Amino acid sequence: MAGVLFTNARILDGSGAAPYSGEVLVDGNRIRRVARGIRAFQTAGVSVVDAAGATLMPGMTEAHTHFSWNDQPSLGAIQRMPPEEHILWCAHIAKRYLERGWTSCVGAATAKPRLDVVIRNAIASGQIPGPRYLAASQEITVPGGLADETLPHLPYPEFSFGAVVNGAEEMRGVVRRFLKYGVDTVKLNLSGEYIAGIPAELTPMTDAEIKVAVEEARMRGKRVSAHARSCESVKQSLRHGIDIIYHASFTDEEALDMLEAKKDKIFVAPGIAWLINTSYHAAEWGIAPEAAAKMGYHRELEIAVESLKKMKKRGIRILPGGDYGFAWIKHGTNAKDLEHFVKYLGFTPMEALVAATQYGGEIMMRGNELGQVKEGYLADLLLVDGDPIANIALLQDPARLLGVMKDGVFVKEPDIRSARSLRPASVA
Ligand SMILES: [Zn+2]
Repeated sequence: MAGVLFTNARILDGSGAAPYSGEVLVDGNRIRRVARGIRAFQTAGVSVVDAAGATLMPGMTEAHTHFSWNDQPSLGAIQRMPPEEHILWCAHIAKRYLERGWTSCVGAATAKPRLDVVIRNAIASGQIPGPRYLAASQEITVPGGLADETLPHLPYPEFSFGAVVNGAEEMRGVVRRFLKYGVDTVKLNLSGEYIAGIPAELTPMTDAEIKVAVEEARMRGKRVSAHARSCESVKQSLRHGIDIIYHASFTDEEALDMLEAKKDKIFVAPGIAWLINTSYHAAEWGIAPEAAAKMGYHRELEIAVESLKKMKKRGIRILPGGDYGFAWIKHGTNAKDLEHFVKYLGFTPMEALVAATQYGGEIMMRGNELGQVKEGYLADLLLVDGDPIANIALLQDPARLLGVMKDGVFVKEPDIRSARSLRPASVA
């Protein structure tokens, strides 16, 4: 048996319970045994990783991922990468997420129709390394809505970041096409976005269009997610039974009540770093803070922070991640979100970690076997040098990630033991 035994670890199990010293035995792709203390398990026949007091925690879930975003400063620029380069880019980025401790990712829209599905399948079949992945459709929008990047004289879908539909029947056709491709999630753009020149508080999709999209997705057992910044779009999402709400910046009492009423079904992934970085860290790309304020981002950030704090108080599951892959919010820096949750949204570090792990397993629809260090759970584990509760920012430092395991296999193998035992006796 080629199991792996982590000894001498500080186990942070993702449940919200206080960390404890203990051992974890991985057998195949599952966590077979978990015990407090040391020398609980036989070391014969297994490879032993002496964690030397490092933190062993569940792999994290990015709840709002765009592998196909290629660190460009506009949606149009992202889209114009040719498909051959684009799929290689996605593969390259998927590997980076995994190496940075994101063992699961929820696709939140792809820039070309099949990129997400192809990458998910390639990861699942072992062709390329990457996190467990749920594939999304393109962003589905209406003419003049967010992600309609067609030009008046070039009305070709190939030029558009999103799939543009007009009316319920066109929606049905487009949703069916994405379901045929095999997406896990259908993504609808229900509100605007300042950077695209469309106010965040605009809500341009009709109920008839949304209803058809949800109906078709449900028929095949798939979920629907929404770009929903405006208060009305949040309510639309809840009225129509949309499962994953991205952003949810603007709310009122009614929207908060509606969110709370469905708190065991829905997930909110605000992508708060997008608002922060666009507001304050995009000057290099022509959006100085004054310009961002003028567009509306400072006001939205302030309002979103208040909305999210209220949601947290009401027990709504808010998850980290979102919209990394733009010029001023680059892929790989996603763990910054946990720090933002603590700094801006009033999360304790432990609550931020639970959101990234336990809630992560839940949004992956595998809460009973993913996202916690528990017997029987899938062996997606991180070995972290230090205490993320004392310093949530250390998850941002790749050097502090001593080990990353997905499905019982090391993606990044800890060399704690080898560093100690293989230190050369003399240096030439
Ligand atoms: Zn997004």
